[in-house]
Amino acid sequence: MQFQNIKKQRVLINRLTEIIDSGRISHAQLFLGETQSGALSLAIAYMQYLCCQHRQHYREISPGQWTDEHGHTTDLRADSCGVCPSCRKFEALEHPDLHIIFPSTTTNSVKSNPSAEDYQEDFRQFMQKHGQYGTLNQWYDALGVENKQGLIRERDAANIIKYINLRPYEAPYKMVLIWAAEKMNSTSANTLLKTLEEPTGNTLIILVCESTEKMLSTIISRVQQVNVPAIGETSTDGRETEFARWFVDWMRMLFKLNMSKLSAWVDQIAKIGREPQKQFLLYAMEALRGCFLRNITKGTYNQTLDFGDEKFNQSFYTVITQNNIPLMNEALNHTLMSIERNASPALAFMALSFKMSSYISKK
Ligand SMILES: [Zn+2]
Repeated sequence: MQFQNIKKQRVLINRLTEIIDSGRISHAQLFLGETQSGALSLAIAYMQYLCCQHRQHYREISPGQWTDEHGHTTDLRADSCGVCPSCRKFEALEHPDLHIIFPSTTTNSVKSNPSAEDYQEDFRQFMQKHGQYGTLNQWYDALGVENKQGLIRERDAANIIKYINLRPYEAPYKMVLIWAAEKMNSTSANTLLKTLEEPTGNTLIILVCESTEKMLSTIISRVQQVNVPAIGETSTDGRETEFARWFVDWMRMLFKLNMSKLSAWVDQIAKIGREPQKQFLLYAMEALRGCFLRNITKGTYNQTLDFGDEKFNQSFYTVITQNNIPLMNEALNHTLMSIERNASPALAFMALSFKMSSYISKK
């Protein structure tokens, strides 16, 4: 799975490839997001990029826009090559250093003590059929056990420990991907705790799940969380209108730095919770990129750039230039990471507002 085949998630993908390129890879990570967000594919594409023998780095032509060697423009700064021996094995989900664990249950062919090991070929076929968006229920349907619930059990945990104690055959890492990790039963979760806490140097374990509600807090605290934003149409629609309104209000108060209005705005956003805060920051990055592209194309770029305020639509984009957009992106990214690391949202958004205000005037 190359990143280019994953719908949307451009901002997150570019952050992930930057982290891999810098070599700051966490040995235990949790990709948290709805099935429709593509979290599972992102995790596979992440591992494929990590192991690719010819990572492709594209040439930046303007902030947020790159071009490949054939001159095609892309939203991605980098991707795996898709054709080297390592990438081919990932595409077929047959890489000898990648082990995929998922919920399993008894079936007609496996009558007792099931584990993911028994269903590897079924899982490959399931992935081929459903691509990035297969759900857990579709997986159970594929196994022919519609009403039985799968689990990740002791035997799976024992296999994971066995895998990561082997030396990698050919990749730089021994990799384990645990899909639907919320289905770990308590014994398997407890068995994995120590492994997650003290992974060996060349191990990479990625958990993928939709919700952390049913997971042990001791597991969550041992993994680095990567939040995969929802791209589901209904949830984004409702939110985008709200985000657009906040964005317009925010940008307007930054022009004249009205402190009392700004404090009220920061108080409001500090209360909405970390997830929506992060989504708003991603929204702001996309919105500013749209404005910038509109500016350099002299207003002809019209890709869904509607803030629900005609005056703002017609004028704001002219202040986003090649001078200030890199600074804005960096400040927004920095705030996103601070929020992820549990910084105070009120302080983080206030500091961000001061920076953004000075950048707006730097056109
Ligand atoms: Zn490759």
